[in-house]
Amino acid sequence: MSANIKTIAVIGAGTMGNGIAHVCSLHGYRIMLLDVKDEFVEHGLATIKKNLARQVAKEVISQQDSDEALARISPGTDLAHAAAADLVIEAVSEDTALKLELFSNLDSICPPETILASNTSSVSITLLAAATKRPGQVIGMHFMNPVPMMKLVEIIRGHNTSDTTHNTIVELTEKLGKAPVTANDYPGFVANRVIMPMINEAVFCLMEGVAEAEAIDQIMRLGMNHPLGPLALADLIGLDTCLSIMEVLHNQLGDDKYRPCPLLRRMVAAGHLGRKTKRGFYEY
Ligand code: NAD
Repeated sequence: MSANIKTIAVIGAGTMGNGIAHVCSLHGYRIMLLDVKDEFVEHGLATIKKNLARQVAKEVISQQDSDEALARISPGTDLAHAAAADLVIEAVSEDTALKLELFSNLDSICPPETILASNTSSVSITLLAAATKRPGQVIGMHFMNPVPMMKLVEIIRGHNTSDTTHNTIVELTEKLGKAPVTANDYPGFVANRVIMPMINEAVFCLMEGVAEAEAIDQIMRLGMNHPLGPLALADLIGLDTCLSIMEVLHNQLGDDKYRPCPLLRRMVAAGHLGRKTKRGFYEY
């Protein structure tokens, strides 16, 4: 276990939140998995059960590991439960106003020593920290999707993140079996600053009829050795999340090279958000 961290509250039981809860509980941490509605928490828990069962079937973990991990997760809908956590990892929808309100509430609820981390893809960690009275204890912990499979956690230092907070989170990340790599707090950090313009450009290629979706993805898979083509990757990430990130890059860097593709906007407006709605650039 990392220094003083034993209990972790994960806020948001969606794609990322349930993956983060899965990995942390499997590594012995007590988890509070919190969302706004029972059905969202139950859906998150069901996903964790399914993914643990898959790991048992592949003999990556034992049935006992899986049972113990599940027993360490306490689901709930009351944010006040976060008061018992040594670390909060926020993984709610990519909406700046929502996250700012949540950080301000968490700051009131949690004891002063609690570290508040965000899994945000693009919201400024410095901005989230400014919504609290503990800017030294606010940090970005950007897990990759799917969390149980992906090695990287991009650690983002806000303007005021303390060395102690940074070192604690790097150590914790290593104990989770992940590879922490630190970046500074600029829009999109490194991972999304590089990957999202590529995805956006692939959507422009589709919109302009440069090639069909399958061909665009095949070119990037076979030609560039990408495990997943950019449009399939966008479906995995969620098109709403991709659009939000492009908007942050565009607004905050002020360069039109980050202009979100109109087709991406149209698909989000139509509710075709990728895998989570069973329809995006592909059908699922
Ligand atoms: P998601 O839509 O799958 O899940 C978000 C969850 O947050 C939902 O269950 C929603 O009900 C819940 N939520 C909303 N408001 C809440 C509140 N006030 N309190 C508690 N729960 C609340 O989204 P996601 O893909 O899991 O993304 C979550 C975060 O992770 C975002 O910041 C996103 O940018 C980031 N992220 C996503 C990916 C990805 O590939 N999807 C990768 C890395 C980081």
